[in-house]
Amino acid sequence: MCASLFPIHEKYETELKILITGGAGFIGSHIADAYIREGHSVVILDNLSSGRIANVHPDAKFVEGDIRDRDLIDRLFAEHRFDVVNHQAAQMDVRKSVDDPIFDAETNILGSLNLLQASKKYSVHRFILASTGGAIYGEQEYFPADELHPTNPESPYGVAKRTIEMYLHYFSVVHGIKYTAFRYSNVYGPRQDPHGEAGVVSIFSNALRSGKPCTIFGDGKQTRDYVFVADVVRAHIKALDLEAASDTYNLSTAIETTVSQLYALIAESLGKNSTEPRYSSARKGEVQRSVCSYQKAFHHFGWQPEVSLRDGLQRTLSYFEATLSA
Ligand code: NAD
Repeated sequence: MCASLFPIHEKYETELKILITGGAGFIGSHIADAYIREGHSVVILDNLSSGRIANVHPDAKFVEGDIRDRDLIDRLFAEHRFDVVNHQAAQMDVRKSVDDPIFDAETNILGSLNLLQASKKYSVHRFILASTGGAIYGEQEYFPADELHPTNPESPYGVAKRTIEMYLHYFSVVHGIKYTAFRYSNVYGPRQDPHGEAGVVSIFSNALRSGKPCTIFGDGKQTRDYVFVADVVRAHIKALDLEAASDTYNLSTAIETTVSQLYALIAESLGKNSTEPRYSSARKGEVQRSVCSYQKAFHHFGWQPEVSLRDGLQRTLSYFEATLSA
């Protein structure tokens, strides 16, 4: 049974049929919970490569499968006639994309195209995409980056996400599928996988908690923009407005935090101030400074982040405390 972690107050009149890919993962499972709370009918497609069945809401229909499986996708769309597709599933490890760009493209480009083709065939009204700010803008020319900032991805993962954004534009203009693409900055919060490669908050907190040394890649001065998952979920609720124009938005805080500052905040919250991190060489494909403006989302649909990094970290660390000691 997966408990509801965040209250959402806005309600929609009509029940929508929504497919959430990656709905057993970190962000997708929180979106699924919120949509179900809103009274929508949710189908989750996930191959459980990094997602967990424990994250799946009991009222969601769960289909274990792969977005690369074209026949499965066709059958699923034919059976359910979705109003909305919310696409969170991805190969999201930047380093893996550098090591194996073909695998990355098979999932992040071809898998996404399977969903877009089926959305066209079965007349889906709106396609919501999890894209990325950090990996799409590359080394930024100005700070914070707005959506007009040049896109210069420096990893196959960023190239793939940008490619799918361009396909979205094509499907919208030529086939009439409306879309919302959200370029997340660094999302953190409960359910982020502390065992995986991504998600520095969960990696640091897990290591500190178990007394293992934390490694900071590079000099620790690289910056990121940390946005709490509940804030991201509120934008996904707003994106269910089927009449809204197709567009692309950053979801971010516009606040830069260095990795060393983040480490210190987590260490302080866990009472491990005296534990020093280890430093190792910087990783390929990762940018030095990343921070995004959310002004467009604010002006178009009134979205802004509400949870401070300190509060969000506290909520995240409490969750890890409760689940890891359970
Ligand atoms: P996650 O790994 O927790 O979720 C991804 C989910 O997709 C997992 O449940 C996984 O099992 C599933 N999946 C992977 N490949 C699949 C496939 N081929 N078929 C079906 N399911 C598959 O990661 P997350 O942090 O929740 O990320 C969700 C989305 O947000 C991704 O698209 C990611 O690229 C994007 N994003 C995340 C962040 C972040 O900071 N977490 C930042 C920018 C963009």
